[in-house]
Amino acid sequence: HVDHGKTTLLDQIRGTSVAEKEAGKITQHIGATEVPINAIYKICGNLIRKKFKVPGLLFIDTPGHEAFTTLRARGGSLADLAVLVIDINEGIKPQTVESINILRRYKTPFVIAANKVDLIDGWRGGDEPFIIAIKKQKEEVQNILEEKIAGITEKMYEFGFSSDRYDRITDFTKNIAIVPMSAKTGMGIADLLLILIGLAERFLEENLRTEEGEGEGTVLEVKEERGLGKTIDVIVYSGTFRKGDTIVVGSSEEPIITKIKAILRAKVSGEIRDPRDKFRRVEEVHAACGIKIVAPNLENALAGAPVLVANKNIEDAVERVREEMKIEIKTSEEGIIIKADTLGSLEALYYELEQSNIPIKKADIGDVSKRDVVDAMTINNPLYRVILGFNVRILPDVEFDERKIKIFISNIIYKIVEDYLRWMGEKEREIDLEKRREINFPGKFKILPDYIFRLSKPAIVGVRVLGGRIRVGQRILRDDTRVVGRIKSIRKDNKNVEEAIMGEEVAIAIEGVMIGRQLKADEIYYIDISEEEGKKLFKMNLSYEDKEVLDEIARIKRKEKPFWGM
Ligand code: GDP
Repeated sequence: HVDHGKTTLLDQIRGTSVAEKEAGKITQHIGATEVPINAIYKICGNLIRKKFKVPGLLFIDTPGHEAFTTLRARGGSLADLAVLVIDINEGIKPQTVESINILRRYKTPFVIAANKVDLIDGWRGGDEPFIIAIKKQKEEVQNILEEKIAGITEKMYEFGFSSDRYDRITDFTKNIAIVPMSAKTGMGIADLLLILIGLAERFLEENLRTEEGEGEGTVLEVKEERGLGKTIDVIVYSGTFRKGDTIVVGSSEEPIITKIKAILRAKVSGEIRDPRDKFRRVEEVHAACGIKIVAPNLENALAGAPVLVANKNIEDAVERVREEMKIEIKTSEEGIIIKADTLGSLEALYYELEQSNIPIKKADIGDVSKRDVVDAMTINNPLYRVILGFNVRILPDVEFDERKIKIFISNIIYKIVEDYLRWMGEKEREIDLEKRREINFPGKFKILPDYIFRLSKPAIVGVRVLGGRIRVGQRILRDDTRVVGRIKSIRKDNKNVEEAIMGEEVAIAIEGVMIGRQLKADEIYYIDISEEEGKKLFKMNLSYEDKEVLDEIARIKRKEKPFWGM
């Protein structure tokens, strides 16, 4: 997540000395960085003792957490492997858990880059591999590092993963590797690349996709470019894309069928003369790479959606895109409305809500619209009359009544869920209070002589609640059976509250009385209760103290009506 060092890590990899040399050059793609196997051999030096078949690694840039959820292909992950970057000094955070859940759901193998090791007090050294650097550290520094790794291992265990420092792992298919590193100094980068290339070889050998055949990719971003209109940045994971190819692209509506007008790649650093001219045009590209596609009609294309070349059979491709755009979401009659910016993020939000047993009525991609608000208004259960949005906005023409529906929006999923659950708890208590409010509860209070703030219109006095509770709107019963005044408001600790309970001292405003006439300081008063309420209260399971107050009220009432409440 934010600030743990993803950008710095990619910059460090891009900036390694081999970048400028010809063989094994690290190249910048649109939305990705290619690190060929030769570059990895060079960076790793003595760490690597064998030859690999994997041609290299393509790192997809996901600087924002949001982008991570768009890395989806065929209901799985677009990435074959993932690097979970965490700040070793902060450990595993709620957002990390979200990412882990996504990786687990997509069954994506991952390694943990335990970053910012250089910040550990007393850490020394530069850009050497971790296994060399660790030997140079003082014992107490090594101990601190071990403690921090143990913290991560423990947390990972809670999530059902077994993990360890990478150099202590023998079976990488059963254990998650933790690579201590520093994106700032470059320490541990070699170890990280070594583990990744090893995993790639282990997990993917049979899965290596071809560079030939009709191209397949995933939209990383939909972007307006000056002079080019709406373009799509695409990670090509299989096959070939050529200028002039017909492509089918997933959109918010029906799949888009269009023709590639131009394929753009990032310029190599030496080529950039005019900074406005960031791209070079190419005739064709092969997997795996990151490109920009210029084509007509891309307005409704969606991040996370598939892009398929379909020169032969358009119909099949359309059907496949339609299928891939479907999200596996179970909806129910009674539930909430969720919105997200991409397919992947919608799935991720849905998944988190499912974990908390929150039912979904409608799940859609896009900003919060009038239609969503209208739909939310029809939800019966007030606890579900909400819209949760991940990485979306409320459209400017949307108007809604805050008291009737609630909208929760954030770009952190767990925050949306947490905010909603908190609100739901409050709302539940409120509804409960409302129910209890239907019946007047017994209450007994005394006016405190030193706290007469105003004599009338309304009278404002300090009181101590001696038993039961007092509430706004209630009338006051005197010992002589007369009912006077009405509690207009209650203030506690400078805040208006609805009620005060036994033991509390509060200021209350009373309409329709004058202090010294109808009510007097130091006297004890009660809350007026109707006979119907009295009957119900006698049947209820009241506490001993509440029952006592009720008995006292009944005693007053029976002065006039001997069988009151019986
Ligand atoms: P991102 O939000 O995950 O992309 O994080 P950044 O790469 O932007 O890093 C966030 C901050 O942490 C920046 O100020 C970096 O300079 C700093 N940073 C990143 N990696 C390291 C590291 O290994 N050591 C130290 N000391 N600082 C780091």
